[in-house]
Amino acid sequence: MKINSAEFVVSVANKRDIKSFDLPEFAFVGRSNVGKSSLINALTNRKKLAKASSTPGRTRLINYFKINSQFILVDLPGYGYALASKQEQAKWQELIGTYLEGSENLKRVFVLVDIRHEPSDKDVLMINYLHHYNIPFNIIATKADKISKGQYEKHKTLIANTLEVGRDDIIISSADQHRGLEQILAIIESLL
Ligand code: GDP
Repeated sequence: MKINSAEFVVSVANKRDIKSFDLPEFAFVGRSNVGKSSLINALTNRKKLAKASSTPGRTRLINYFKINSQFILVDLPGYGYALASKQEQAKWQELIGTYLEGSENLKRVFVLVDIRHEPSDKDVLMINYLHHYNIPFNIIATKADKISKGQYEKHKTLIANTLEVGRDDIIISSADQHRGLEQILAIIESLL
């Protein structure tokens, strides 16, 4: 699929403001710093569509982007940032929970994990949550350029075992090397 247009639509901070568009939605989620903004920018071929985590503010919002006037890409707030207070964590949970439970146009969630590390308890919780609500997902193992190709299988196995998912549900990607992007776009295209 070729991305012809990608535009920021709106950011939402509170659950009552969650939007519904008449287009299929694809959501991206993961712990903060996992490479979500970089991946969204690489996928859409825009340098600054999604803001990097060094930009305060936007990372705690749901950001909606309209792609090709065909679908909505939903950038969900990152979880697990070290400085978050209990109150902030509760707000995150409420926002993301309301989105995942209530979004009728949501076709697929892409859960990002860093290919180098064993997924965290929060990643496991997210997967359990998606199972619970019967929301289909794929795992994206990010920053693949940080390990050698010979190590891909070992890391894939660790991620699959920890999250209790099939190895085929894991997409290996690198925003820096534009790896795995076609695979992600092909999944989206197949669901339009
Ligand atoms: P976010 O918080 O999940 O949106 O993460 P960012 O996209 O802001 O990325 C966090 C850090 O990881 C930044 O320093 C990025 O440059 C770096 N990063 C993101 N994706 C890649 C990648 O594919 N390869 C490498 N080597 N670094 C990456």
